[in-house]
Amino acid sequence: VIERAHAEALDAADGLASFRDRFVVADEGLVYADGNSLGRLPRATVAALERLTAEWGERLVRGWSDWIEEPVRVGDRLAPVIGAGRGEVVVCDSTTVNLYKLAAAALAWRGGGALLADRGEFPTDRYVLEGLAAAHGVELRWLESDPVRGPDTASVAAACRAGDVALVVLSHVHFRSGALADLPAITAAAAEHETLVLWDLSHSAGAVPVDLVAGGAALAVGCTYKYLNGGPGAPAYLYVRRDLQEELRSPVQGWFGQRDQFLMGPEYEPAAGIERFLAGTPSVLGLAAVAAGVELLLEAGVEALRRKSVALTELTVALHDERLAPLGFRLSSPRDGERRGGHVALAHDVAWPICRVLVEQERVVPDFRPPDVVRLGFAPLYSRFVDVWDAVDRLAGLVERGDHLDMDASPARVT
Ligand SMILES: *Cc1c(COP(=O)(O)O)cnc(C)c1O
Repeated sequence: VIERAHAEALDAADGLASFRDRFVVADEGLVYADGNSLGRLPRATVAALERLTAEWGERLVRGWSDWIEEPVRVGDRLAPVIGAGRGEVVVCDSTTVNLYKLAAAALAWRGGGALLADRGEFPTDRYVLEGLAAAHGVELRWLESDPVRGPDTASVAAACRAGDVALVVLSHVHFRSGALADLPAITAAAAEHETLVLWDLSHSAGAVPVDLVAGGAALAVGCTYKYLNGGPGAPAYLYVRRDLQEELRSPVQGWFGQRDQFLMGPEYEPAAGIERFLAGTPSVLGLAAVAAGVELLLEAGVEALRRKSVALTELTVALHDERLAPLGFRLSSPRDGERRGGHVALAHDVAWPICRVLVEQERVVPDFRPPDVVRLGFAPLYSRFVDVWDAVDRLAGLVERGDHLDMDASPARVT
């Protein structure tokens, strides 16, 4: 039996434990298990936003002489988190928009060809590719991967063997199952057929070490409001391998991607380097928040975060086996910690009313992913092992008592 004292001992030995105090914890009674959807608010971000709003008030438009550098500067700070080099990352727009820009740029560069993605991919990624395929008259093919294990190297290689696949879009960590894809192996297998891979790092960056350069990755995008703690709607990032930057052109020809922007010339000519993938005026307040979140991650170190994250998910899985499996839950994530990202998916036939009771009565915040998954994401920077224990204990308790049987099971706007 795994007692709460075991989780307390793990917390006492946790070298990252002090980072929790660097975040706003408004309610100590609330167990937050959704850091993979929206990270907590760093205290430093409150100060950074105060500084920036003061600067806005004082400097007015003159502030732009410094603010204009921020998308590249924050990209360079973020680069080590994803194993990219200087000048290979910019922070701008949303993940959805960046995915569109890079996928369209790759497709144009290849002069057409099929697109390939996983049938179970995150919705926005699928929808963007569907739109691109329709607009360019190219085929969109689907990988039918195992929903728990996710896409594997062999099936990507087999799909690319047709020889006409221009681009594959894949998540590094799957948003539902948490399956961790083998980025270097899949990138290499696709490259054998001259296929580019665009990696979506939204669910991995900040919880799992990513090494884009060592993995030979060509393109990547990701969001900053999950494990990077940039805040709701914070700008996303994009990565383009240096040797490809001059080859690719953004389909959104905005003035922030223009060479000599303030000459305001008659025609668009892309800037040299990564800046050509900017579109319009960046969110400077959002960038300040991203920078503050990234500094905390760098201070903690991605390797240390990964070790703690694996320990947190190991405890979640062990507690699932002991307390939840007998109540009808099924582990819907890879059992091997090496094959899993930072969250754990637990399936149950009546997951939605269970989730509602968990949030509204038990004060645990997970999220629900249809049709049947309760997703627990304990971000390693501020989560404690007792948070895992308490979350599972409250989850087991409510199902044992049958509290969810009286809960309204109609759908909600946001889950
Ligand atoms: C969170 C997430 C996104 C978010 O896209 P937005 O444009 O920020 O809404 C995209 N893709 C994946 C895989 C995600 O996990």
